[in-house]
Amino acid sequence: MVQIRFLGGAGEVGRLAVLMKAERNVLLLDYGISFDADGKPVLPLHVRPRDITAAFLSHAHLDHCGALPALYVSASVPVYATPLTMELSDVMYVDALKLSGYYLPYTYEEVERLMSSAVPVMYGERVEVSRDVTLAVHNAGHVPGSAMAVIEMEGAVILFTGDFNTRDTNLLRGADVQSLPGDPDVVIMEATYANAEHPPREKVEAEFVEAVLEVLERGGIVLVPAFALGRAQEVLLTLVKHGMDKYPIYVDGLARQINQIIGRYSYLLRDPSLYRKALDASIEVPNMYVRKGALDEPCVIIAPAGMLKGGTALYYFKKLAQNKKNGIFLPSFQAPNTPGFEILSKGYAVIDGALVRVEARLEWFDFSAHAGRRELEELARRFPPDVTVVLVHTDALAAASLVRRLAREGFDNIRVPAAPGETVEL
Ligand SMILES: [Zn+2]
Ligand SMILES: [Zn+2]
Repeated sequence: MVQIRFLGGAGEVGRLAVLMKAERNVLLLDYGISFDADGKPVLPLHVRPRDITAAFLSHAHLDHCGALPALYVSASVPVYATPLTMELSDVMYVDALKLSGYYLPYTYEEVERLMSSAVPVMYGERVEVSRDVTLAVHNAGHVPGSAMAVIEMEGAVILFTGDFNTRDTNLLRGADVQSLPGDPDVVIMEATYANAEHPPREKVEAEFVEAVLEVLERGGIVLVPAFALGRAQEVLLTLVKHGMDKYPIYVDGLARQINQIIGRYSYLLRDPSLYRKALDASIEVPNMYVRKGALDEPCVIIAPAGMLKGGTALYYFKKLAQNKKNGIFLPSFQAPNTPGFEILSKGYAVIDGALVRVEARLEWFDFSAHAGRRELEELARRFPPDVTVVLVHTDALAAASLVRRLAREGFDNIRVPAAPGETVEL
């Protein structure tokens, strides 16, 4: 018997943390954080590190990896992840410690201990975690390095999707669903967009590029606040693919470092030569001198943070937002209580105590790296309808509609844990 306990990511998007307990082994799948309205990190429920056999890390976004170092204060749990995920999460931790180190229950010392406890695992590889636990990982198509895990634990077969995307993007090939087992006992599936369909990517790209060009041709500057991991690279590739590199494209903040790391793993990307071309075409912003210079001519600036909660994007935003000629184009999800959400809903935001009204052209584009409703349904349909499906990383209301739709097709074993602490038993 396997008991699955949700320490986070139950009834909420983010802070994913799942504990699987069998007779002789305990596995931890992701251990992420979220941020409250004041920007303070919110941790998943506590787990005693010495009780854990091993951990698996799906990818390097903080809502999956952000709390993991907290387990290394007193123990050293082996953590299985792709080499790229480990390398990327290292820089994510450094950045998180810089921004909110005071509130995090660990220091760089614990991050170092986590890094030295990492066990690399490649796509398509199957490794023995303990005598009766094996783990295989497959491309999840979400961000570079992201993986879905197939775990055989004391006789039970568990699929853990992490965040995933089955559609190809400019950056990555879609998730490798062909390699998944046909008849798992349980599928723990992210369902961020349980209730939303993404428009066709070609349409989004065409609209985005057209809008960028209109601003540039009028002599304006386009600011694209983007998540440093995944979205910044996808936006850069989209611009270069469509010839926008005839204008300068600047990349600032954490995205620069991440661009370079991903470049060393270009064999994991959909089009390594396009990626190389995009890196060569973009101008990295190393300091304030270049940052100021970027504002002198029509150009595109890609800068984190994606929701304008700090980062260098905020510097550019304050300089560019009040001029009609410019464009502020948001390609990422905007959580409530963030400046990005505020400007989209009200046309202004309060930044550092001052009200900034957006006069620039303001747009949002759906460059999502998550499966939409249709893709979630398609993944479920790969399995027999008596499979247990657990929807995580979603809010309860959005999940309810997906549960109804799948129930109509005979799936009668879908669970939606509503709050951390709930369990599902197999
Ligand atoms: Zn996530
Ligand atoms: Zn993610």
